Amino acid sequence: MPRIFCIANQKGGVGKTTTTVNLAAGLAQIGQRALVIDLDPQGNATMGSGVDKRALTLSIYDVLLESASIAEARQRSPQGGYDVLGANRELAGAEVELVSQPHREQRLKRALDAVAADYDFVLIDCPPSLSLLTLNGLCCAHGVIVPMQCEYFALEGLSDLVNTIKQVHANLNRELQIIGLLRVMFDPRITLQQQVSEQLQAHFGEKVFNTVIPRNVRLAEAPSYGLPGVVFDPASRGAQAFVSFAREMVARIETMR
Ligand code: ADP
Ligand code: MG
Repeated sequence: MPRIFCIANQKGGVGKTTTTVNLAAGLAQIGQRALVIDLDPQGNATMGSGVDKRALTLSIYDVLLESASIAEARQRSPQGGYDVLGANRELAGAEVELVSQPHREQRLKRALDAVAADYDFVLIDCPPSLSLLTLNGLCCAHGVIVPMQCEYFALEGLSDLVNTIKQVHANLNRELQIIGLLRVMFDPRITLQQQVSEQLQAHFGEKVFNTVIPRNVRLAEAPSYGLPGVVFDPASRGAQAFVSFAREMVARIETMR
């Protein structure tokens, strides 16, 4: 059975998509079978995996509306080494169409059951909101990975996410927990970032991942080539950090079992 993780933070531009595709590519490099599910209508995880969102014949939208299975709608990332269930703008309409449907928050969970044997990890790239789409992700996940920048307002808004996770845990998914906070775009030369990083560790203890993802321009350049940074420039510091993070995640799931 795969371990299923949402990469979530309701702020935009904090590194969710970068984390999703690079963790998937890092896991693939160390021999893990991974599926990336793009739950964001912007389709950045899809494009960043080398799959053209404008050319999708089937997508996560069809899966949520139960007109296709994941086995039918998934594709192989051409160079990422993992599978992708893609998204595009059509997904924005799913929210409205699902509102009147039964089990609307459980659609993804049901669909995933059918491909469970194919993967070790499922990584769900969530949109920057606590919407019905995000809820579908949280309902099927074992845990949430929260990427965050070590900035003054980093913790602001985290309490909304934590409350949502608590509610989903209480009402819809007893397995859900925060797996960890991942410090991303980190620049150790900036004193404030070091201070916030220390505060995070003091506050959240072992919920803060050991791996720190540095600010690294190669990670930012990679999506325009349709590649995760881990594949685009394996020698870069950013790529190496994500491979370390993949190893840390493999070790974490051993302790979760
Ligand atoms: P989100 O999915 O949360 O909106 P993204 O992963 O798209 O965030 O990241 C936002 C922007 O920051 C993108 O342009 C991305 O390339 C860039 N970025 C993300 N992580 C890093 C990093 N570690 N170093 C440099 N740029 C990064
Ligand atoms: Mg994103």
